[in-house]
Amino acid sequence: MAEEKGRRSYLLSVLGCRCPRCREGKLFQYGVSANLKKNMTMNETCPLCGQATEIEVGFYYGTSYVSYVLTIALSVASLIAWWIIIGLSVNDNRFFYWLGFNAILLIVLQPWLMRLSRSVWISWFVRYDPQWKEHKPVDVSERINKDQGTNW
Ligand SMILES: [Zn+2]
Repeated sequence: MAEEKGRRSYLLSVLGCRCPRCREGKLFQYGVSANLKKNMTMNETCPLCGQATEIEVGFYYGTSYVSYVLTIALSVASLIAWWIIIGLSVNDNRFFYWLGFNAILLIVLQPWLMRLSRSVWISWFVRYDPQWKEHKPVDVSERINKDQGTNW
């Protein structure tokens, strides 16, 4: 019963950058940071259930598509918010001020967006296992080449 209570939903697990298999362990070693190298340092395996975070060579290449979609969605949301709060008109430069605002917003959010993209991406390939304590994670050692690690 206590275990039932502590269970994270899919959405909270992805937003919190948690391991998709146990939804508990952290994917990243450090908190969100402006130091991009530190920001993107992942645990090699989930500290709790042992799930590998890089499940094949170049696994995270696909995150660029996720990041692209997230960026477009954020831009649309910020445009709508700008339209409602400040307004848009063809008679002045408010649209261009929004462009500047949006560019700064996206740059500031970039470290978080990069992490979120990886979290979303791995959540599509690794299944949630509520009984992760009893099962072992899938062995991916033959799909991994240590020399090519983090090589994307
Ligand atoms: Zn885990």
